[in-house]
Amino acid sequence: MCGIVAYTGDRDAYPVILKGLKRLEYRGYDSAGIALVNHGMKIFKKMGKVAALEESLIGIELKAKAGIGHTRWATHGEPSDRNAHPHKSTNGKLTMVHNGIIENYSLLKQDLLKKGYKFESDTDTEVLLKFIEDIYLNHGVSLEEAVRIALKRVVGAYVIILLNEDDPQTLIAARKGSPLVIGIGKGEHFLASDATPIVEYTKEVVYINDYELAIVRPDELILKNLGNERVTPEITQLDMELAAIEKEGFEHFMLKEIFDQPVSIYDCLRGRLDAKIGSIRMEGVDKHLDQLVNANRILIIACGTSWHAGLIAEYVIEELCRIPVEVEYASEFRYRNPVVNEGDVIIAISQSGETADTLVAIEKAKENKAFIFGVVNVVGSSISRQSHAGAYTHAGPEIGVASTKAFTAQLVILTMIALRIAYTKKTIDQTRYLHLINELHEIPDKVSLILQETESIRRLAEKYQDARDFLYLGRGYNFPIALEGALKLKEISYIHAEGYPAAEMKHGPIALVEESLPVVFVATKDAYHEKILSNAQEIKARKGKVIAVITEGDTLFKEVADDVMVVPQADELVAPLLSVIPLQLLAYYIGVAKGLDVDKPRNLAKSVTVE
Ligand code: GLU
Repeated sequence: MCGIVAYTGDRDAYPVILKGLKRLEYRGYDSAGIALVNHGMKIFKKMGKVAALEESLIGIELKAKAGIGHTRWATHGEPSDRNAHPHKSTNGKLTMVHNGIIENYSLLKQDLLKKGYKFESDTDTEVLLKFIEDIYLNHGVSLEEAVRIALKRVVGAYVIILLNEDDPQTLIAARKGSPLVIGIGKGEHFLASDATPIVEYTKEVVYINDYELAIVRPDELILKNLGNERVTPEITQLDMELAAIEKEGFEHFMLKEIFDQPVSIYDCLRGRLDAKIGSIRMEGVDKHLDQLVNANRILIIACGTSWHAGLIAEYVIEELCRIPVEVEYASEFRYRNPVVNEGDVIIAISQSGETADTLVAIEKAKENKAFIFGVVNVVGSSISRQSHAGAYTHAGPEIGVASTKAFTAQLVILTMIALRIAYTKKTIDQTRYLHLINELHEIPDKVSLILQETESIRRLAEKYQDARDFLYLGRGYNFPIALEGALKLKEISYIHAEGYPAAEMKHGPIALVEESLPVVFVATKDAYHEKILSNAQEIKARKGKVIAVITEGDTLFKEVADDVMVVPQADELVAPLLSVIPLQLLAYYIGVAKGLDVDKPRNLAKSVTVE
């Protein structure tokens, strides 16, 4: 997590960095800070959001042609002014921003303390900077060499960027495990954690790889590995438009992204699914069809909302392809001793493509010769580069911290993969195959229909905003949607919520039911609809409040429920793509009704690049 921005060139660096930090704020908002060389090194930092920093700088002379900036998601040391980045060296000439965790910082710190170094913060970052300073000042090496020597001793993950008062237009950056993109302009360079701060200045970017060091001047970008050998920068063209990262009149990014879904789902299907001729073509799948069709089993690795997409994919793939599927939290997978063999296919799902646990998990699976298929949203991200094959979700930049449109795009991709495999394996008959293709094709229009009727959901949100707890229940394909609905509510409104398979309720959670407990049923029509209807009756019998997501025309459920959110009819296999939308809206409107910052919920950050 943490957003990093830096600039060197002929422009005024401060506005470029400030704007960039605002774009990266979804990555962390515990504090923000900027360092500029302007008659000596100047550091400005403040606890809280970027706007607080900006306000504190009104009226201050900030002219500089280069600088570094940071928006923090604290890992070591509480959110405070003094723990905010950039940190400075003892002699004040070097400043540094850092994204990641230096795991052996404590040992390094003890050595430095013995040498007489003093520390102004509790961060691992300041330790690394002073370690670099110590090598630089006492070993007669260049700053670049000092960084290289220091990084060889470092255990952990980092992107660092250093600004040097004595050579202010030369930035030194390095990465391992956290993301760094460099934008190439005419006589200027932009460095950032992702491409959003860069896109309005240039479309030419270089994605820095692990163990690479960049020496960046206005008209020069030198890339080296930690062995001091030159590496040729690989220039990529950015496929991103500025409008995609702006709110476009919506009050929050989250709401905009919920409303983006008819288009983002369509973009995900476009060029891949052709309902007229009944075909699915996906380059990453078609090229490796053998591996996928003959997989001994499929292991899906993900975290958070992506893990929920994986749970639905498990049901879909097993149903359609008859291949055993397991879904794992990346953070568990990486630290246990899982059985992974040649012939296993790993599907790694991540919006950012930088999720630290997922990245390490796929490295581990690769060592065991598994085939890695990445499902990611951010083009050029680490997971996409580490995978043998993959499919981009093409949902466009997702800036709201709670994932919405990336989730539905992941579901679409995973369903298309399942259909493609099933068709080749002949585990699906032609009629069902064509029917499901058509069902997917119709999803964008059906999502649009749901989004035309949001007022009733807003009213519902106001009615239930003061509830202390929520229970979410679903069965079959909708069970993971119950988990996702509960997660959205927790993230955005800070209301305690739990998701369960509806029938599991009787094994414990039903003890929680009382008059003040809203129970949200994800109850679109499926083969076992009457079962979930009975579960709703059980809640009613105990005086709980029943809120239900139902299929239009479902009068039976409507009679039982206190309140309903209606979605269009769809095959049960694609129904989660519809049933999740009202739950996203419910969480959003409850968050808004409670006056919370729904785009930047407390303690969270979007792209989880630390463990
Ligand atoms: N470890 C650093 C700190 O706590 C950076 C944190 C991060 O990248 O999330 O300040």
